[in-house]
Amino acid sequence: MYDDGDEDDAAPPGEPADLQRQHILLHDTAHVWHPYTQHHQAPLPVPIVRAKGSWLYDTHGKPLLDAISSWWVTTHGHCQPEIVQAITDQAASLDQVIFAGFTHEPATALAAELVGRLPRGLTRIFYSDDGSTAVEVAIKLSVQSFANRGQSRRLIAALDHAYHGDTFGAMAAGARSVFTNMYEPLLFDVARLPDPSEGDTLAALDALIAARGKELAAVIVEPLLIGAGGMRVWDESVLQGIRERTSAAGVHLIADEVLTGFGRTGPLFACDRADVRPDLLCMSKGLTGGLLPLGATAATEDIFDAFSSTDRRKTFFHGHSYTANPIACAAALASLQLFDEDSEDERVRIEVAHMRHLATLEGTKGVRAVRQIGTVAAVELDAPDGYLSDIGRELAAFSLEQGILLRPLGNVAYCLPPYCTTDREIDAVYAVLQRFLDGERAAPIGTGGPFDD
Ligand SMILES: *Cc1c(COP(=O)(O)O)cnc(C)c1O
Repeated sequence: MYDDGDEDDAAPPGEPADLQRQHILLHDTAHVWHPYTQHHQAPLPVPIVRAKGSWLYDTHGKPLLDAISSWWVTTHGHCQPEIVQAITDQAASLDQVIFAGFTHEPATALAAELVGRLPRGLTRIFYSDDGSTAVEVAIKLSVQSFANRGQSRRLIAALDHAYHGDTFGAMAAGARSVFTNMYEPLLFDVARLPDPSEGDTLAALDALIAARGKELAAVIVEPLLIGAGGMRVWDESVLQGIRERTSAAGVHLIADEVLTGFGRTGPLFACDRADVRPDLLCMSKGLTGGLLPLGATAATEDIFDAFSSTDRRKTFFHGHSYTANPIACAAALASLQLFDEDSEDERVRIEVAHMRHLATLEGTKGVRAVRQIGTVAAVELDAPDGYLSDIGRELAAFSLEQGILLRPLGNVAYCLPPYCTTDREIDAVYAVLQRFLDGERAAPIGTGGPFDD
């Protein structure tokens, strides 16, 4: 990590692990502001120096099993060699080029490969930087496509408990919560539909279309899995019902597949599970396999056509400095290729391992509910709800001591591992959860590191 001897800040090579750790933390404490972190009371962050497969390693070489795919991004595994190679090769030949007026093969090949795998009808790819920007782009494309055709449809409908990102448009579409309350007056109004895992979304959508159908531009959903809002799994038939109703009313369906995309729920996209074809589909987290940031919004030709005009005001005036960064696109291409190999078998294997463990946990003391879709398993703990619930932080601290990275959403613990995670590694995750449920808060045992299966 410190081979760049030119940096006068860096500790010299060969420095003992303790000093390396102190060095990182000194700068961290003095100058770094972490996401979703209350610096006044947060424990010191864990310096990580290396990663491989489903494991992270700290300064002392202590292994930590990444059971949450590092915030849901790592698909195949950390430092996946084929993707590392693609990044290395691309960085040495074309690093970056403005994407207005210029193009390049990593972006064109990736667009073609994505279109070949996306739900049918999505034929145009607009690149951006991350999940939030992919959502911003989708919302803006929907609203402007109507405006360009002389229709004033500006209303967006979204689900209760939805999470679509942290930029303003994405926050507006997301559920109001402790994350967004202070910005409330700055967020545009959204029509809210019940979370399909607990309410009658379709009846509410029928009522909304009857009352305000002509104002409605789009319904945005996290298909089949409301993620950050508590890993809530919902029915394919509801997604199909939303599609039927939006199609009939001439309203766009935006599928925010930032979490669900790239195999998380089983098939490559959650929409495929329900055989639903959205008008717009947002991708990011797993797009590059989790090695580099990249966002993409897929759109139908009909939406693209709404912008095609001799009137320059109908242009989509939106772009990011790093739009279609060649290195990120090359990583995504390499990742897509891995999906054509044995990824599906791995995902099915993880799905089966989850099922086995959840069947045991269901009805156990301390467990209110269990949920699963594809490689995502969630266990709702019997404790006060909410993101600020203490039990989640206790579990995170306990599992960290045991060498496993979990980050519960309030009282909802979940396991969302990289696809290379072995059955024994998954067993280790559930073993820690079970010990926690048994009331254990014991001294660290540790996993001992990667298991040879
Ligand atoms: C994480 C997430 C986002 C935001 O993505 P970022 O890359 O964090 O901006 C949007 N939608 C969903 C469903 C997500 O899970």
